[in-house]
Amino acid sequence: MESLDQLLIQASARIDEADDLEILASLESELVGKKSFIASTRRGLGRLPSEERPIVGAQVHEVQTRLQQLIDDRRAVLQREAEDRLLEQDRVDVTIEGYEPPVGMHHLLTQTVDEVVDIFTSLGYRVASGPEVELGWYNFDALNTPPTHPSRLESDTLYVEYGDSSDEMLLRTHTSPMQARYMEKHDPPVYVVVPGRTFRADALDATHSPVFFQIEGLAVDEDITFGDLKGTLAHFAREFFGSERKIRLLPHFFPFTEPSAEMHVSCFACDGSGCRVCSGSGWIELMGCGMVDPNVLEAVGYDPQRLSGFAFGMGAERIAMVRHGVNHIKHFYENDLRVLRQFS
Ligand SMILES: [Zn+2]
Repeated sequence: MESLDQLLIQASARIDEADDLEILASLESELVGKKSFIASTRRGLGRLPSEERPIVGAQVHEVQTRLQQLIDDRRAVLQREAEDRLLEQDRVDVTIEGYEPPVGMHHLLTQTVDEVVDIFTSLGYRVASGPEVELGWYNFDALNTPPTHPSRLESDTLYVEYGDSSDEMLLRTHTSPMQARYMEKHDPPVYVVVPGRTFRADALDATHSPVFFQIEGLAVDEDITFGDLKGTLAHFAREFFGSERKIRLLPHFFPFTEPSAEMHVSCFACDGSGCRVCSGSGWIELMGCGMVDPNVLEAVGYDPQRLSGFAFGMGAERIAMVRHGVNHIKHFYENDLRVLRQFS
């Protein structure tokens, strides 16, 4: 019975010191398991004199119960500590600073084309697109451009060989072939804008590139006059460059419009007094335009007696350069994000 008392004192200290669940489990088996001192004492009770048996038996039971209680209490503490540790490990620090994922943006050219197209669609124009590899017929002949016209020389136009086709094929030099293609497929009235990529045998310099974007416009209806052309382009100029802008139209020549004009807009930077943006003239050349030549209407089967129209075409790079002060056309194609991000 003295050993049992001592066991209880020593074991309580060891149970308190057990600092993880595994150690506690082996301690439990050592103290109250089948091979423990408690178990062997219990088995030896039968050899004791019958008057001592209940006294010792009660003491064995008492010590075993106390030990088991101490072990269970200690286990509960260790389990709670383990749970706390797990919670701490899995804790999400909601105060930690986040990071912003990089967000893309539209290229300045796309922004410009979208903006121009929006101005015309809000007037009721439709949007069309056409092939970049084009037949000579649509690029030139249907647009009243004779076979001898200098723009058809290989020094100006990039030709394409396609199988053994005898058709004259080329990379379209403007978006105007869509005038003929669209009118072939649609009955009048026609109000359409055509944005797209165009190609010319030009060397790269500050304002020229062998590939560039054009936006074509075409309106064909009854009683369309030069006044309609002027009013439409003035509206565009005010929407795009500001409500104070004036325009002027200077005589020009294009094979597919008659009369033809070059459209200028009063300089938005100096309001017409002359500055670096407008090279001191107060005006900025913006696009070519004119009344659709009756020969073009005839080529697609429209009746030029009944119908008339106007057409215009502008370079998207040109109007973006003018408006945003971009000083070299190469900036549109080099895709240097430091440059492009300025226009986000
Ligand atoms: Zn100016």
